[in-house]
Amino acid sequence: MAQIICPKCGQQVPDNVAKCPFCGAPLQPVAASQHGPFEAGPSGKSRGVAALLAFFIGTLGIQYFYLGKAKAGIIFILITIVSCGIITSIISLIQAIMMFTMTEEKFEQKYVNSTSTLPLF
Ligand SMILES: [Zn+2]
Repeated sequence: MAQIICPKCGQQVPDNVAKCPFCGAPLQPVAASQHGPFEAGPSGKSRGVAALLAFFIGTLGIQYFYLGKAKAGIIFILITIVSCGIITSIISLIQAIMMFTMTEEKFEQKYVNSTSTLPLF
C-alpha cells in the first residue's frame, strides 16, 4: 500500500484513508483503484491498453510485449501456433475482462510486478 505524508502533522499515513489517523486532519483519498482504466499506473502501464490489446490481438501475445514480458509473449505465440489460436484466444479474452475489472493494484501485482514467466490469471 502506498503512503502519503499528512500535510498537517507530517506523519506517514496510508493513501486510502479519508482522515489522518494521527491528528484527524481530512485527507484526499488517492487510492489507485479510483483511476480510470486507461490511466497509467505507477509502472507506466495502463491496464485499459493491456486489456484492449489482449481483447483484439491477444493471440499474438501483444499484451505481454506491452507489459515488458517479451518471454511470455513468445511463449504465448508458440501456444497460439500449437493450439491454432484456440487456447490463447480463450485465455486472452478472459485476461481482457479481468484487466478491465481488476483494481490498479491487483493489475500491477499480477501482470507488471509478477516474477512469473507467463502470468496468466
Ligand atoms: Zn496528521
